[in-house]
Amino acid sequence: MKVRLVVQKFGGSSVANSERIKRVAQRVVETKRAGANVVVVVSALGDTTDELLELAGQISHSPPERELDMLMATGEQVSVALLAMAIHELGEDAVSFTGAQVGILTDATHTKAKIVDINTQRIVRELERRRIVIVAGFQGVNLNQDITTLGRGGSDLTAVAMAQALKADVCEIFTDVEGIYTADPRLVPQARKLSAISYDEMLEMASLGAQVMQARSIFVAKRFDIPIHVRSSFTHAEGTMITKSVKAMEDIVVSGVTLQKDEAKVTVRDVPDKPGMAAEIFRELAGKGVNVDMIVQNVSREGSTDLSFTVVKHDLPPTLRITRSSAHRIGAGEVTTDEGVAKLSIVGIGMRSHSGIAAKMFEAMARKRINIEMISTSEIKISVIIRRQHAERAMRVIHQAFGLGKRGAH
Ligand code: ADP
Ligand code: ASP
Ligand code: MG
Repeated sequence: MKVRLVVQKFGGSSVANSERIKRVAQRVVETKRAGANVVVVVSALGDTTDELLELAGQISHSPPERELDMLMATGEQVSVALLAMAIHELGEDAVSFTGAQVGILTDATHTKAKIVDINTQRIVRELERRRIVIVAGFQGVNLNQDITTLGRGGSDLTAVAMAQALKADVCEIFTDVEGIYTADPRLVPQARKLSAISYDEMLEMASLGAQVMQARSIFVAKRFDIPIHVRSSFTHAEGTMITKSVKAMEDIVVSGVTLQKDEAKVTVRDVPDKPGMAAEIFRELAGKGVNVDMIVQNVSREGSTDLSFTVVKHDLPPTLRITRSSAHRIGAGEVTTDEGVAKLSIVGIGMRSHSGIAAKMFEAMARKRINIEMISTSEIKISVIIRRQHAERAMRVIHQAFGLGKRGAH
């Protein structure tokens, strides 16, 4: 009989200290002793990646991205080695690898590289020797042999790509909550664990602020139809399956509410109301790699109009520089910014077949006197820009309005 192959990924909080690393080792050994082959992907300990970035920031305001990758990748190298030691202590054979060692080949984009290939030979050989294989998450190597990283939360992507390359039976993502919830359980205590969610919904939720899974990892999982089980590294409770959508999922109109707090709004005043003006502004931004999110153009008055859009706060300084110069060129007025905004979204594939969802969302907010500044929708999501100071309250209001909480919780 074919031996089951399981990919297990443990996030930073699951390996935050030596006690937790020992607990993870136990969990891995349990799976191995139950008869499966195990490939483990691990993140850096606790907040290591943030701490390394902070350290880099003390040295330079704009460190070369190649060196940032070199630095950040050290975090995961520490955790794989420690986990291998902990597994040895329990009497099983384990071997740890960096991304480069197991041939995780990426493109050349430092700090957010894409995986292009995984050479599984070495891993397969080690598994055949009945060893537990431990792979550093979040990192790879490009054709130049330079170390790259896969974007924040990138260990999720390493795990999914491993599961795909090795044709694993399941990809388990162990984290510090019991699965995917209707909202971040830290912000909405009434949030309920979902037993299953579709790739499309998870992709939207991840892109709209639910950091529990890296968005790109879901994109890849969907493409290759890799089922993911998100579950707790602290309990044995069943978590959430992320899979292809099934009929029952479509009956649920709204599956989750997400919040993105790091948004900023830019407004260009008195843009001449003639063709090509918006193109001019957004072409420049796109060319410089700035991702523009929501866009609103006001009704024009006397030949000019105001144009507002949002970007992630981190991109605000270059956005402002580029927009000011475009505005000057096209003869627009002043460019102002607003860093006090957040984006609240609802997501659900049931929206495809139900109407009145936007109205229900806006009414719930109106009742609580929460002002909506911008709106954008897609087939399976509705997002609004609101004041950041009201954001968490608004999230709870919307969560309740759609009856997403635990039964009896409200
Ligand atoms: P890890 O270190 O395991 O990768 P992350 O911090 O990246 O963990 O992701 C887990 C966190 O994601 C949880 O602690 C939770 O606060 C947050 N989160 C945000 N939205 C959700 C959601 N809808 N369901 C579950 N967790 C969520
Ligand atoms: N350590 C990396 C990060 O913090 C990757 C990960 O945890 O998935 O983003
Ligand atoms: Mg994560």
